[in-house]
Amino acid sequence: MKYWRKLTHKQICDRVFGALDKNVNFRTQGGIGVPASYLDTNVFYDNASFLKDAPFLKTLIENPNHIGCHTLGDSEAFFAGTQEIEKELIKLCAEDLLKGEPGAQDGYVATGGTEANIQAAWIYRNFFMKEYGAKISEIGILSSEDSHYSVPKGANLLNIKWYQAEVDFATRQLNKQALQSLLEGAKANGVKYMIVVANMATTMFGSVDNLDIYVEALEAAGLSYKIHVDGAFGGFIYPVSNPNNPLSFQNKHITSFTMDAHKMAQAPYGTGIFLIRKDYIHYVYTQEAQYVSGLDITLCGSRSGANAVSVWMILMTYGPFGWLEKINKLLYRTSWLCEKLDELGITYYRDPYMNIVTILSEQVPDEIAHEFGLVPDSHSEQKQWYKVVIMDHVELDALDNFTQTMARINK
Ligand SMILES: *Cc1c(COP(=O)(O)O)cnc(C)c1O
Repeated sequence: MKYWRKLTHKQICDRVFGALDKNVNFRTQGGIGVPASYLDTNVFYDNASFLKDAPFLKTLIENPNHIGCHTLGDSEAFFAGTQEIEKELIKLCAEDLLKGEPGAQDGYVATGGTEANIQAAWIYRNFFMKEYGAKISEIGILSSEDSHYSVPKGANLLNIKWYQAEVDFATRQLNKQALQSLLEGAKANGVKYMIVVANMATTMFGSVDNLDIYVEALEAAGLSYKIHVDGAFGGFIYPVSNPNNPLSFQNKHITSFTMDAHKMAQAPYGTGIFLIRKDYIHYVYTQEAQYVSGLDITLCGSRSGANAVSVWMILMTYGPFGWLEKINKLLYRTSWLCEKLDELGITYYRDPYMNIVTILSEQVPDEIAHEFGLVPDSHSEQKQWYKVVIMDHVELDALDNFTQTMARINK
């Protein structure tokens, strides 16, 4: 680990307050040309005494704008202090968590997984057009039927056709034959270039795609492709829980990742993380963005620097070992639930490195699902699954309550 270590509250305060000191101070130094200032002081009290111990809230009130991407080129000098913290966060995720080579990745804190997935598809669409002279109609986007709906959303926005790969009902793994014929069909439609969004834990099942299946099928079909990994849910768990994680920057087939800190890392909303190998992000450079210093190569414009600081603070408070323990606690509870379900003869899907248990809905009466707040795969009559997501607040007591209730009705 080069960047990830455990810091004390004092060290975190010193670092964040030090960074804020390097940002523009609207109270004392000009800065009269930017449409930005601290939060409205009539509403958000900037002199509350607790703020000196609250680096995140203090950053929120100072309201730095992290517009743009700070891992390459110049950035707005007004917020250089907190941008440094974001850069360190990006390196921590790309190098320490996802095993990227030093300095070989770009990235930024996006609004969420949706934006990060669309950012990736946008970059690859432009890449194929610029480098291969591809026409829009020759580019497709491929993901599994368990993928998040941000993939078809992005396909719609970018005006490229979405190809949905079938998965096996019980294993949630890609079906090779179906994928082959899907790709043959895409080729027959004139598709030559494929943007792949592979799952590092799906939202409904926590299932992780076997990348080899995609790579073999794409190579066999003779399609050019770029692979993005959607780790919006699994990004802060799977690389830690699975020591042989095949989905990292060590895998030459993968070019980019999404990780959401506002899911498993319990960060405030607005903390999706986008990571990509160097020399790609410029394909979405917006030439017209001339009033922003440096390159605006992100889908969102203005964004809160406090968000980046919050994720950095979370990871630094735990450190890598604290994080390992946190994840293992969740996995322990998940295994505990699975054992009880086995005893009850209930059918479910679970990836051994993930904290989601997805139960056949026909085995869970709707009232019980409702009582325990289980989430179905579909809100229509056709639902087939209910999921339990073992988050920090989902303790063994709650799981025991659920399994006891299930045991009563199973009698
Ligand atoms: C939640 C999720 C997304 C979308 O993330 P938002 O942060 O809600 O935009 C994308 N992919 C997966 C796998 C997710 O679980």
